[in-house]
Amino acid sequence: IHVDSPLAEGAEVTLPEQAGEHVARVLRLGVGDAVVLFDGSGGDFPATLTGIARRAVTARVGARREALPESPLRLTLAQGIARGEKMDLIVQKATELGVARIVPIISERTEVRLDAERADKRLAHWRAVAVGACEQSGRARLPQIDAPRPLDAWLATLAGDGAARLALLPEGETAPRALGGLPHQALLAVGPEGGFGERDVAALRAAGFAGLRLGPRILRTETAGLAALAALQALYGD
Ligand code: SAM
Repeated sequence: IHVDSPLAEGAEVTLPEQAGEHVARVLRLGVGDAVVLFDGSGGDFPATLTGIARRAVTARVGARREALPESPLRLTLAQGIARGEKMDLIVQKATELGVARIVPIISERTEVRLDAERADKRLAHWRAVAVGACEQSGRARLPQIDAPRPLDAWLATLAGDGAARLALLPEGETAPRALGGLPHQALLAVGPEGGFGERDVAALRAAGFAGLRLGPRILRTETAGLAALAALQALYGD
């Protein structure tokens, strides 16, 4: 169960309302039963339920355990924003596949229009989806999910940190297994439903991105990033 504030051994915490309801009404746990809490920082904490009231389920936090280690390959998915539920699917599955960071990207052919208020709501929703995926997959570290930003703005923030820079392009010149190894970090840029435009590709190339091709078929945007994450984790990560 994800708790929003940092956890410490011995503290008594109130579970988030939805999680509390799930524990009390769906799982029908009672005082003295065990749950596992995490705060997104990487470890997890066994805990014992201490109170089940209508709106407040509380638990006493036990000693921090090192959770299963994260992949040695730190993958960032810069995903052209896809319509509606597709983006939820991408956030959920990318989290299961161990992504470290997701950057929702606005590019030449982005169809989704997000004003500031809608962008904030979508971001909060995607973060909640990632929390659910962490709970489901036993991951104790939440992926970072950035606010949506234009491709150029994201490219301008990139540091010279040695991360491999890969743009998923149906006409890309290299395949995952031909990379022959990766540094411990990689950036993966995926176009939206309509793909990257010419100006996007020029900007990605100018920023040093290689074109990565996932076979001769055209994949939907929600398939492409997830397939690339799975391939790179299997070949070079964990
Ligand atoms: N006609 C568009 C084009 O040529 O880019 C197709 C866009 S595709 C539906 C959406 C995104 O998925 C693309 O921008 C690309 O990032 C990725 N993609 C789809 N198939 C791919 C493939 N075989 N190899 C690499 N990337 C692919």
